[in-house]
Order: sequence, then C-alpha cells, then structure tokens
Amino acid sequence: MSAIDFSALDAAGLNLQAVFDLAALPADVRAPLDPAGAYRRLILIGHGGRTLWERVQAARLSSEHPIDDFTRATVVAWLAGQLPGVAHALVYPGDGPVGLQALGRLAGWHHESPFRVGVNAAWGSWFAYRAVLLVDADLAVTPPMAGESPCAACAGQACVSACPADALRERAFSLAKCIAYRRQADSRCRVTCVARTSCPVRPEHRYDDAQIAHSYVRSLAMIERWG
Ligand code: SF4
Ligand code: SF4
Repeated sequence: MSAIDFSALDAAGLNLQAVFDLAALPADVRAPLDPAGAYRRLILIGHGGRTLWERVQAARLSSEHPIDDFTRATVVAWLAGQLPGVAHALVYPGDGPVGLQALGRLAGWHHESPFRVGVNAAWGSWFAYRAVLLVDADLAVTPPMAGESPCAACAGQACVSACPADALRERAFSLAKCIAYRRQADSRCRVTCVARTSCPVRPEHRYDDAQIAHSYVRSLAMIERWG
C-alpha cells in the first residue's frame, strides 16, 4: 500500500482527510457511490477551523458556491499531482446522494450534538465535509480520529439552554421548533445557531461571523424556498 501526501490540501484549509477501503464500507454507504465496484478507495475530505474560509476569501472567486468551487479546483489539482493517470471520481460536491454523516461517523469526526451538527474533541462543531473522492489506487487506510464525544462529559449542556426556540430539550431535536423560530423576522438564528455558538468546545476554531452567516443564510433560504 502506498501513502499519499496531503500537505497541499492542509495548506488550502482542506485539513481533514480520511482514506477508506471501499470494499470494507457498509453496503448501504458503498453501493450508491460505486455501484460497479470500479474503485478501491474513498477519500473523505473536510475542513476544520478557519483556514479554508480565509483561502476562499483570498481566491476572490466570483461564484454562487465559492467554497465548493474552490474545493473542487484544489482537490482536482492535488489529485493530478499525487496520483497522475489514476481512475477517479469526485462524487461530492455533486448532485448525487452521499451519506456524509455516515462517513463522518466512520472517520471518527462526527458525534451527534443536541443541535444535530457533528461535534468532536479536536474541532468542536467547527468542521464540515467538503469533498468525497473515489480512486482506483491501493492507498493506506487511515485510522479513525481518536476521542470520545465531548457531549458525553458536558454537564452544563450550554447549547440546550441557549436555544431560543427550546428545540433541544429531552435529547430530541425538534426541527419544527427550530425552523419556526428561524423564520421569525426578529429571530436570533437567521444567520447563526445560538446553540452552536454557545458550545464551549474548541472555541479557538470557531468560524468568524461571516463564515457562520454564509452557511446559515443558505440554510434559511432553503427553508424559505421549501416552506
Ligand atoms: S455544549 Fe456540551 S452538549 Fe452541547 S454540543 Fe457542546 S459539548 Fe455537546
Ligand atoms: S438554529 Fe436557533 S432555533 Fe435552531 S437549534 Fe440552533 S439555536 Fe435552536
């Protein structure tokens, strides 16, 4: 098996990477991605912290989806340098269904938080999935990220009490309450999630306000579009 150099992705802020053996993935995760069994490895790529946003801002892309476009260009260039001529498919960002959270759980990145965004001990909730790549190469598989869910030892559960919609009580997230509150004209959650920003885990990696707003403006627009 061969190792692969992720340093160029790290420098671009795409600083979370996990290599999976496609054949070892659960069938319900693997089958929609590679129905013909054409590839040997899946590479899950994410970002943690603020660096990716800084790189995207510096690139000054005039694009409706600057993070996706920056990610796509960066990953394609990186792959061409690392594995020239190797058959591959970039399945995310894209239009097909990809079980990102299922992959995140297997990678050790995703532990369920009360507000349903993934959380881990290294990054808090300040990480996200950015790309999924299939390659026909015999790459070394990476071990899962170590660490228990920070929620397991969180006595105060600041996120639960901070939610202005009271949507996180009884360990059962109420999407209906969350959406109804976010749509209010005077909502504090139109461009953020107050629960998420109240979590004390890894505050040094918290996105800046513009990055948070970029994400939550888009989710609110989808809520408004679909009623
Ligand atoms: S505040 Fe506590 S319970 Fe809420 S997400 Fe953070 S660690 Fe988990
Ligand atoms: S977006 Fe607002 S209403 Fe929804 S879970 Fe977060 S804090 Fe609660």
